[in-house]
Amino acid sequence: MQDSSSVETLAETQFDVVIIGGGITGAGIFRQAGLQGLKALLVEAKDFASGTSSRSTKLIHGGIRYLQNGEWALVREGARERQRVLKLAPHLAEPIDLLLLAPNWYTFLKYWIGVRLYEFLGQVRRDDRHRLVWGKALEAVEPSLDRNRYPYGILYREYLTDDARLVLANVRAGCALGGVALNYSPVEGLLEDAGRVAGVRIRHRGSENSIAVKAACVVNAAGPWVPDVLAMDEPALKSLVLSKGVHVVLARSDLMINQCCLLVADDGRPVFAIPADEIVYVGTTDTIYEGSDLTWPPVLNHEVQYLLAVVNAHFKLDLQSAQVLSSWAGLRPLIAQSGKKTTEISRKDEVWVSPKGLVTIAGGKLTGYLKMAEVVLEQVVQQNPVFRDRIPSALNWFPGASQPLPPEGLLTSLLDSENVDAQILARLVRRYGDEAQAVLARGRELIAPGAKMILGQVHWAVAQEYAQTLEDVVYRRLRTPLYEPSLSGRGLERISELMAEMLGWDESERLHQLDQTRRLLAADQHFLDNT
Ligand code: FAD
Repeated sequence: MQDSSSVETLAETQFDVVIIGGGITGAGIFRQAGLQGLKALLVEAKDFASGTSSRSTKLIHGGIRYLQNGEWALVREGARERQRVLKLAPHLAEPIDLLLLAPNWYTFLKYWIGVRLYEFLGQVRRDDRHRLVWGKALEAVEPSLDRNRYPYGILYREYLTDDARLVLANVRAGCALGGVALNYSPVEGLLEDAGRVAGVRIRHRGSENSIAVKAACVVNAAGPWVPDVLAMDEPALKSLVLSKGVHVVLARSDLMINQCCLLVADDGRPVFAIPADEIVYVGTTDTIYEGSDLTWPPVLNHEVQYLLAVVNAHFKLDLQSAQVLSSWAGLRPLIAQSGKKTTEISRKDEVWVSPKGLVTIAGGKLTGYLKMAEVVLEQVVQQNPVFRDRIPSALNWFPGASQPLPPEGLLTSLLDSENVDAQILARLVRRYGDEAQAVLARGRELIAPGAKMILGQVHWAVAQEYAQTLEDVVYRRLRTPLYEPSLSGRGLERISELMAEMLGWDESERLHQLDQTRRLLAADQHFLDNT
């Protein structure tokens, strides 16, 4: 990460590759470029992970449901890629058992065949394989379920991550490999030399002048904004459709589930209900989005009702939208396939190179980001054969995963050595891996009385994770609207005070930051009626 003074030197640096977009796709490519010995620059218009990559369902999964579309190769790849993410960042890939529910024998049998096929394609180890549950066993697994409507279940293995933190970890890994990463630095145009794309023009953190940065290769990994970057090059060759996915956050006391559940809506769409400490989040919808706000797509009332109806039907509840503590909407950039609904369009990623050499990647999933990065780098090297001679880096450090101890072992050793609430420690280990102790060392004070987050996390976010604004800390480092919605109101002042100290904000800047973040938090609980 560069500070503002050294940013000016960017204009004098010749990069091998500039990556536009600091979501999981761009961050993964950034790290991979560093591993292959390339000098890489990652530029993000807003905050890292502020696009789709902080708004997913947070599952590292093969996408079992795509089997019904016949997308075997996609499912096989996703199911296998899970193991790579688990190996690289065990703290950010928590093994979970997903409970898939069936209303009758016929559906149960169909799902069972699907799960077996999924495990076969994913080469799932014997001790990680599914379990069939009904009757008393199902009651023990999920007592609150309406078993008259859903008498049969299958428990199968998936992994849960924290999408934004996975992005940040990749950005940090890429920087450790010698790359430069800048947030709040939108690319405003492309440089050209002899008819080839030869760099980018960026505006760094609102500065007056843009900076021209030269690079042998430019990668467009701008997610939903891919078409905007393509437009800087030449008319788009492929068209994208954006599919909106909404999640709602409920109190665990209102939806008392033990298990991560895969529910099926009346229209056949899958809806996940994921418990995390005191909350459960439920999502997602999948509808075409044509609105103009790609950063904060609005959550609509009927989308909230749709999700609550699925939960109410499975758990015999009467949850109302007033009980929703928070919500978010994200956009899937999908490659348009004529005549297909958003639910039918493939999630497969595509990489293509424009006549002027701009490499673009679109589509794909969080789960497959490592493979996607390798495929993009193959294209980058094909465009620039001299890169084949670069010496791959010997450093393969990944934040939070330097020690061989698995997260459970880390937690046990911290419980022995630290006099800190067990739930706080468990959360720290899951989010920061073996850096949890370093986070603790920066401040154990609770952000607010009764909170399960500490000031050390705020300190860490600013010092180690490139946070620039209060929104960055709240939404993408600590993620209070998701994990601890009630803290957002109480803890905000305290977080802003510490950030003001660290970043040198005056009082009017601090109040401005507070106001901005409060508005966003209020919007998360306010659902629009229009479409
Ligand atoms: P983004 O995260 O959107 O990143 C693109 C970035 O480019 C943005 O940060 C943007 O600010 C930046 N940018 C744009 N223009 C410029 C510019 N001019 N200059 C610089 N930067 C720019 N996948 C899974 O594997 N598991 C799941 O459980 C899952 N759930 C999902 C649920 C939902 C609701 C959605 C929408 C998707 C889900 N996905 C899931 C898919 C996954 O989240 C996406 O594939 C992935 O996050 C896309 O990442 P990205 O980096 O391509 O895009």
